[in-house]
Amino acid sequence: MCGIVAYVGHRDAAPLILKGLKRLEYRGYDSAGIALLNGALNVYKKKGKVKDLEEAIAHETLQSTIGIGHTRWATHGEPNDRNAHPHYSASKNLAIIHNGIIENYSSIKKNLIKKGHEFHSDTDSEVFVHFIEDIQINAGCTLEEAVRLAMKEVVGAYAIVVMDATNPTQLIAARKGSPLVIGVGEKEFFFASDATPIIEYTHEMIYLNDYEIAVVRDGELTVKNIDNALQSPYIQTVELELEAIEKGGYEHFMLKEIFEQPRSVADCLRGRVNADNGHLVLGGLREYTDKLAKAKRIVIVACGTSWHAGLVAEYLFEELARINVEVEYASEFRYRNPIIKEGDFVIAISQSGETADTLAAIELAKSKGATIIGVCNVVGSSIPRATHAGAYTHAGPEIGVASTKAFTAQVIVLTQMAIAVARKKGSLHEDTFRRLLFELERIPHKIETVLQSDGKIKEIAEKFKDARNFIYLGRGYNFPVALEGALKLKEISYIHAEGYPAAEMKHGPIALIDAEMPVVFIATKDSSYDKVVSNIQEVKARKGQVIAIVTEGDKLIPTMADYVVEIPAMHEALIPLVSVIPLQLLSYHIAVMRGCNVDQPRNLAKSVTVE
Ligand code: GLU
Repeated sequence: MCGIVAYVGHRDAAPLILKGLKRLEYRGYDSAGIALLNGALNVYKKKGKVKDLEEAIAHETLQSTIGIGHTRWATHGEPNDRNAHPHYSASKNLAIIHNGIIENYSSIKKNLIKKGHEFHSDTDSEVFVHFIEDIQINAGCTLEEAVRLAMKEVVGAYAIVVMDATNPTQLIAARKGSPLVIGVGEKEFFFASDATPIIEYTHEMIYLNDYEIAVVRDGELTVKNIDNALQSPYIQTVELELEAIEKGGYEHFMLKEIFEQPRSVADCLRGRVNADNGHLVLGGLREYTDKLAKAKRIVIVACGTSWHAGLVAEYLFEELARINVEVEYASEFRYRNPIIKEGDFVIAISQSGETADTLAAIELAKSKGATIIGVCNVVGSSIPRATHAGAYTHAGPEIGVASTKAFTAQVIVLTQMAIAVARKKGSLHEDTFRRLLFELERIPHKIETVLQSDGKIKEIAEKFKDARNFIYLGRGYNFPVALEGALKLKEISYIHAEGYPAAEMKHGPIALIDAEMPVVFIATKDSSYDKVVSNIQEVKARKGQVIAIVTEGDKLIPTMADYVVEIPAMHEALIPLVSVIPLQLLSYHIAVMRGCNVDQPRNLAKSVTVE
């Protein structure tokens, strides 16, 4: 959601910033802009893609060694040229880029209007920069001090970078609640929403903390907190390779990421599982496995696809470890005064580690005494820093907005967690424990096998690409998979899709079934197989079109279903890791056939950093 890229140093800033904004396109946005010091402090901005901005400014002379750039995901004011960032202050000496929401912007705006300020956009962000300048003028202080004082007044979430026409080597950045990374080079500095635009220049990065202000001036960086105390920021070396954020020959990032899953799942197991000697250790949770085994209750908080991974974990923890689990939408949990007792554990799941609602849910649960475990993909992001312990999913950067490899990585981490806790608790028979480890090690190969059905899935996609609705049904471990399959289709193809527990069909959705309705059943050989077979018959009796994901060698369902995709047999608890793969491919192919922008679906943002 929104992208920030800023640079100050000795390079030509404009191409570097524009390229960086393209690297952040995956986060989702509706307009783009850049401010440079080329003669004066000039702002160029445009509704649409970075490419549209580039075209609009192609004839300009853009020489500048300092600049700020932004991709906007509109929250206040419609996506148009005016509302795009950067925004000027009243004097036009300052320009700001902002990610987040200033909740009290309208009262600040009213006061400023009384003082004669004129606004040229509907955004909260423009108010922020006017406010900073107003403070600077009234208090007669430095810009850095004015930013600090403004931060004491504004309520909401932000990552900002401010540029000053009167100070050509200076950039000031600050954050509260929205991500901001600073790349440290040789007498040059990079600011960005995440590491991807910076990595080709430097691996040395500082993740700014909440309520910190970073000032770069004359090639020197200082970081202070909101009380003006000097901070010693931790510079970490980020091990991210450039090829991981490029398409590598695939037509879309999403397809690349689907096909990366044998590797990403293997990466998640590496060093953690060894079936031969019965080894299962999640490094980041070493001290907590014991405590988790004694937990009376685990609350899982997450949003979107991560919430589906959380639902799989509910089945896993309850079945294997016999611990009571509740899975909550972070956005509901945080505003509900939830009951959290001392000794409760909260598992927070987020690909980006920046999801605003999940972060807020963590803070709330912490304040009520819970121990928080994080399951995140982006190393060094806000959630892992806010939790007591956790395990990374090691899926590598996920650029496609629709999550695929991050989902399977989350599920495999949660599976390992549940098995480890169950084993500690003594609720898992040694034979089952060994069998699960043995089967876990084989999951990457099983995913590989399913990926070979890509051609067949494409043929099925061809048949249903014009459908207006879809239903996805599954039971037990495959119920969350049904939800995830439906979400994937909605997100990228804009076809309306519903996921349901198969038995719930009779309580409503069955009314929708006719000869036009495709119904995807995840109907693997597991404990609910016979029940699902009956559900398939119920759909066929009403002439619905059945696409079934079945276990290899199933002889019965192919006699009923219209289309069948096989997956290898495995322990029931591990099925979601593999049964979701054909559904990812199905939605991908349908979306491509419908001419949709698969990697950047409309209205969606990759990491939802505003609530
Ligand atoms: N709230 C700001 C706006 O609507 C910033 C949105 C963003 O994070 O892109 O312009």
